[in-house]
Amino acid sequence: MSKLDKSSHLYQLRHSCSHALAQAVLQMFPEAKLAIGPPIEKGFYYDFDLPRPLIPEDLAILEKKMKEIIHEKQTFVRREESIGKALEVLKKANQPYKVDLVEGWKKDGSTSVSFYENVDRHGTVKFVDLCEGNHVENMGEIKAVKLLHTAGAYWRGDEKNPMLQRIYGTCFETKEELNTYLQQLEEAKKRDHKILGKQLELFAHSALVGGGLPLFLPKGTQLRENLMNFITKEKKARGYKFVTIPHIAKDELYMRSGHLGKYDAMMPIMETEDGDRLVMKAMNCPHHFELYKAQAHSYRSLPLRYAENTVVYRNEKSGEINGLLRVRALTQDDTHHFVRYNQIASEIDMILGLMQKVYARFGFTKYRARVSTRDLNNPDKYFGTDEVWNMAEKNLIEGVQRWGAEYFIGEGEAAFYGPKIDIMVEDALGREWQLTTVQMDFIQPKNFELTYTNEEGKDEYVAVLHVAIYGSFERFMAIIIEQFGGAFPSWLAPVQAKLLPVSDAFLEYAHTIREILENNDIRIEVDDANDTLGKKIRNAELQKVPYMLVIGQKEMDEQKIAVRDYATKKQEVMSVMEFVEKIKAEAEA
Ligand SMILES: [Zn+2]
Ligand SMILES: [Zn+2]
Repeated sequence: MSKLDKSSHLYQLRHSCSHALAQAVLQMFPEAKLAIGPPIEKGFYYDFDLPRPLIPEDLAILEKKMKEIIHEKQTFVRREESIGKALEVLKKANQPYKVDLVEGWKKDGSTSVSFYENVDRHGTVKFVDLCEGNHVENMGEIKAVKLLHTAGAYWRGDEKNPMLQRIYGTCFETKEELNTYLQQLEEAKKRDHKILGKQLELFAHSALVGGGLPLFLPKGTQLRENLMNFITKEKKARGYKFVTIPHIAKDELYMRSGHLGKYDAMMPIMETEDGDRLVMKAMNCPHHFELYKAQAHSYRSLPLRYAENTVVYRNEKSGEINGLLRVRALTQDDTHHFVRYNQIASEIDMILGLMQKVYARFGFTKYRARVSTRDLNNPDKYFGTDEVWNMAEKNLIEGVQRWGAEYFIGEGEAAFYGPKIDIMVEDALGREWQLTTVQMDFIQPKNFELTYTNEEGKDEYVAVLHVAIYGSFERFMAIIIEQFGGAFPSWLAPVQAKLLPVSDAFLEYAHTIREILENNDIRIEVDDANDTLGKKIRNAELQKVPYMLVIGQKEMDEQKIAVRDYATKKQEVMSVMEFVEKIKAEAEA
């Protein structure tokens, strides 16, 4: 799960692939303008300015050309040039993006740059690219390469710049590793939450409602409710208090918090007759702070944990909206922990313990933590004393150490108001998702005067921890739909069992059983269509319902049901109450 190591042979292979790709593109489009082409965690890419849009067939042609280039076993030869000479060469070659790069380096004070020449066995220079190095000896070492897809990418990632065509590819040490990865990609495509969301009738989008605003169908709503019930129960068991706030507030609230102007959701949506300007919330913290202030607090009542499952609104860019992964209305399982400074360590332990339990329920057992700390070379950037920061960073680091998960320090990545822990979780396909953040905050308690009375009767500031375990319900749903491939365990599935009467003769008995199951809080559907049993089973399988309950003459005579397990395809005859017990046991597990 670690990132691609710059010193590894794999890095060199992928980096060298970028050169082979650029060379192949120039063979196909001699007028192509080259941008950048780095190795990445799962492969490599290269950005090009091309005379026409690429079509999928082009990738096959380019891949064939790449393989011919690789077959030539071209070597890499370094050549240093003064920055002036480099600019001259690149301008002459009509490579404006490379010129732009070099001009940037020149501004930063560089005086020379390096080029790498690809030389074939006859000593002929086949291709030259501006590059800092770190390649294989010769291209013959590349044994397993594949071009994957294309995407648009702005030059330097800035939408004011020209849109380039990015070609993605991947490369592994061996063909076996490449094939395993390609199979994973295929599997990921099959598990795509947007496809499964439709197939399983979970959610829909409407152009008229708007992009990034998913609408949840009854089954999707049930899935959300199951997620919500689970996290709510776990939080209540740990003493969290649930609160409720409106989705709008006066703009003054966000002037106090300093958020105003940073989120488009905070544009005024209405003005009251008193002249108050109301805005949509993009976060819940300030509302929860005002709730904290509504009552007096003593050291005896801390830690205090306010929790709420509530929607915030963010104006995500259209190009970044993606199914449920990135939306404009997101429901957070948000909590704010108000603690004394000497309670930070124990609070972190509690939060990490909760996280671990939640992740395990969804089969996430591999994760790692990043602790973001101050940039020690830039101490003025941060709010709060060194003493407080040292204490907080120490608490976070020791917390993840006690937790036992793999962790690393992101020095200089902390926000100015406090250090944080981010948890990255690996899913069933080996992909890593950043899920939970535990954010320390020393500044908002002062902005909002969040105090408590200590043992001596004096007021002291609390520290605040901002935490959302799932992050957002929408994004978490996307991740678990793909994690389970839509085949949810029974406790989570919107429909836990489907009753399949073999024919209409057994419909009445089926409904009797449905009633018993519903009275026992089992989520059930009856397939009363005039179909064969085979068709009914296929339909239930497409819906990935955990259990199919087949009912025919034998089952009716014996007052039993034949329970077919979606996961194992095994069938077992049992009484209705035995099935109820089975489902209840699975919910407790
Ligand atoms: Zn290179
Ligand atoms: Zn918050």
